[in-house]
Amino acid sequence: MARKFVYFFGGGRAEGDGSMKTLLGGKGAGLMEMTRIGLPVPAGFVITTEACTLYLKGGRGALRPIEGEVRRHLGRLETIAGRRFGDPDDPLLISVRSGAARSMPGMMETILNLGLNDAAVEGLARRTNDPRFAYDAYRRFLTMYSSVVFGVPRESLDRRLRELKARLGVKLDTEVSADALRDLCAELKVAARQATGKAFPQEPAVQLWGAIEAVFRSWNAEKAVTYRRVENISGLAGTAVSVVQMVFGNRGETSGTGVAFTRDPNTGERHFYGDVLMNAQGEDVVAGIRTPMTLLELRPRMPRVYRQLEQVRRRLETHYGDMQDIEFTIEEGTLYILQCRAGKRSPRAAFRIAFDLHREGLISRADAVSRITPEDVERLFYPVLDPAVPETELKPRRLAVGIGAVPGAAVGELAFTAQDAESRAREGARVILVRHETSPEDVGGMHAAQGILTATGGKTSHAAVVARGWGKTCIVGCDALHPDAEAGTLRIGDRVLGRRDVITLDGGTGIVYAGEVPVIRPQLPPSYHHILKWADGFRRLRVRANVDTPYDALKAVEMGAEGIGLCRTEHMFFDTAERRLAIQEMILASDREQRSRALAKILPLQRKDFEGIFEAMAGRPVTIRLLDPPLHEFVPHDAAGQTALAAALGVPREAVAERVSQLAESNPMLGHRGCRLALTYPEILEMQVRGIIEAAVAVRKRGGAARPEIMHPLTMDPREMAILVRRTREVADRVLRESGARVPYLVGTMIEVPRAALLADGMAREVDFFSFGTNDLTQMTMALSRDDSGRFLPLYVGDGDLGVFEHDPFQTLDQEGVGMLVRWAIDRGRAARPGLKVGICGEHGGEARSVIFCDTVGLDYVSCSPYRIPIARLSAAHAALAADRAAAARTTRRRISRRPDAHRRPVAQA
Ligand code: PEP
Ligand code: MG
Repeated sequence: MARKFVYFFGGGRAEGDGSMKTLLGGKGAGLMEMTRIGLPVPAGFVITTEACTLYLKGGRGALRPIEGEVRRHLGRLETIAGRRFGDPDDPLLISVRSGAARSMPGMMETILNLGLNDAAVEGLARRTNDPRFAYDAYRRFLTMYSSVVFGVPRESLDRRLRELKARLGVKLDTEVSADALRDLCAELKVAARQATGKAFPQEPAVQLWGAIEAVFRSWNAEKAVTYRRVENISGLAGTAVSVVQMVFGNRGETSGTGVAFTRDPNTGERHFYGDVLMNAQGEDVVAGIRTPMTLLELRPRMPRVYRQLEQVRRRLETHYGDMQDIEFTIEEGTLYILQCRAGKRSPRAAFRIAFDLHREGLISRADAVSRITPEDVERLFYPVLDPAVPETELKPRRLAVGIGAVPGAAVGELAFTAQDAESRAREGARVILVRHETSPEDVGGMHAAQGILTATGGKTSHAAVVARGWGKTCIVGCDALHPDAEAGTLRIGDRVLGRRDVITLDGGTGIVYAGEVPVIRPQLPPSYHHILKWADGFRRLRVRANVDTPYDALKAVEMGAEGIGLCRTEHMFFDTAERRLAIQEMILASDREQRSRALAKILPLQRKDFEGIFEAMAGRPVTIRLLDPPLHEFVPHDAAGQTALAAALGVPREAVAERVSQLAESNPMLGHRGCRLALTYPEILEMQVRGIIEAAVAVRKRGGAARPEIMHPLTMDPREMAILVRRTREVADRVLRESGARVPYLVGTMIEVPRAALLADGMAREVDFFSFGTNDLTQMTMALSRDDSGRFLPLYVGDGDLGVFEHDPFQTLDQEGVGMLVRWAIDRGRAARPGLKVGICGEHGGEARSVIFCDTVGLDYVSCSPYRIPIARLSAAHAALAADRAAAARTTRRRISRRPDAHRRPVAQA
């Protein structure tokens, strides 16, 4: 059978339905569905996205075979409308609009009143007895057609109407007389002829095909391509074209056009929300020419229409089980619905609406949970720029754009060193820490700052990872910045800012603004707590937190953490000057004895931290990772810092400088770090394991519960693993024997070196658990530096120049490559040790797509920074619900194929 390219709707029947968005576009599918459920929709037809594909490949010639189909459907439309297309006495007029499977408001092309020409406009004037209306419709058509089809700049056409009104001394379009509009139409035709070299087409069929082609072409217009890239839309065939009989909102004071949401899109409250502009066509509402009235104002003015609108609202919500955004027109007191789609809403409203719809019995709990997106959750938590500040005010204040690593908004004076940030914050100042890049030494200042801004780095750079853990706004990779810590200046292009200058960061967009932009902190709506509880009821994956302090552990529990999946012990060493000095003394020790003495000073500090964390977690599992970063990160590299350290330790400055230069490595990320530290300095392992177990014993003795899980980073070989586990158990068991207490503990490893993943069976025989450190595993599998690849990685990502990866692999797990290692390691690991506990603690553990992958491959838990826990909880529920749906679909398929007559069907069809 020949492929069908045109689908009709009208007279209460439709050839398609709401499920056919891919083929008919969202708008087309919506029109079909609304017709089916009996809403007052004008008749029309939809030309499919497949026709768009044909056109984009083969040009106008490729559409020849569907011309007959279009003509036939136009004939059906004429029959239903009782008017002929091109009839000079009583013409059928149509609208031609684009509509893809996903709503793309930036690229919408619309042509209204198509079918008018110099003769038909006179016919329309006679039939309606309203020449002003007829010429107003014609001038709109000429304007839209010339701009959409011929590419004449819209502004140059709109200007003519403005100039005309100025000449006539009137303010409103409705005050321009029929004669003046007739002259304007003549002017617009001349403008079109000047632009194209040809007369404006008078033949309606020519107009129609010109419009269809223009809509198809608009799919590849720069703005549409950009919109799809920004919104991460890929894999769509093209746009459909809907051709609909015109209804007129500009037929006088009982006509109008409007937009409405079935609930308040800002708050989610259940009241009808919308605007109507009387005596106007759709574009006037958007253009803001006159102030529209609210639906509440419409109610007393046109009670019957308002009641009808209320009925439509109820019908749509019951039918779709969701808040809808509708466009409507009232023509001389008769209501028509022109479009409906799920309405865009604020994150707050998303929660409230999903919760209320379930309470009202319109959707299930599973549906309510599925309605919330990870972005809704994320955006709910962060302070944001006050949406009341208009774009016109923001634009001139824009200083630079970087990579928005942690969303939210932050305002403060500039601080160029961590120390400066800390001391000014102590005095009550709000500061933004601006660094070329941050290092572990900066954490104090980072914590004290309102927000963090770096010139280099990507989304998993040190600054981003640390800031995300605190939910602190952070922009990285902002390469227009030239911070000079010594001079206390920040140069951006020609501008130079100093310590007292204020800036505002928008972590959502990565934009840096000059001065203070007002910021608001949204409050969590009650529906948030209900819906996340429902999500917990659906999910299989456990969710843990990456935290390093008792304070953050409490925060994590509040956010719903069921344990700690990663406590990076090195972060504990940077908290205070005392701690920094203790670890620096340990690093600078020249022999084992000196090192042990320094470690003895650190032990009580670590033990205290661990006790606090165990207590905060109240018996939930706590994975503590032994020291990981290369030691050089802990010591000062500048002369002043080395002199100060030498003085504090009572050693010559040269000794400090020499040790620092000994620690230098050309490739430290692949160097003396991770478990290699514990192997070369066994006393570090001894001190840390002792601290962990002693803390657990102390908590137990106080009647509390503690479940430590000791984790070794950067392992690569089963024999290496065996040594680490043996040494760990020796220390832990010794401490337990000494104390006489019984504390169950686990010993495990991170899987972050590809070789460890490949040899997972051997690794699993040695340990109780694996935790995928996918930050390093990605870095090492792809040979991409997590700190420096921001310079070229954007080229590889999305619709970038190379378009190699769909997503940034440091944010969304590379399921193909890194994911293959993950699957392999799980399978081999569990084959060697059934019941092996497996989790993930890289940044991917809090990213929606990656969480779904983690569920699919059978991980036991994901672990992420506290502020991402709600996203992980929700995404884990989404994964479980999707798996249930897939299983149900499989069962249905099996049942059908087992039916006694199932095997006979193809034969019968043949
Ligand atoms: C990792 O590599 O994924 C990880 C969690 O460790 P870190 O980020 O501390 O290197
Ligand atoms: Mg790592």
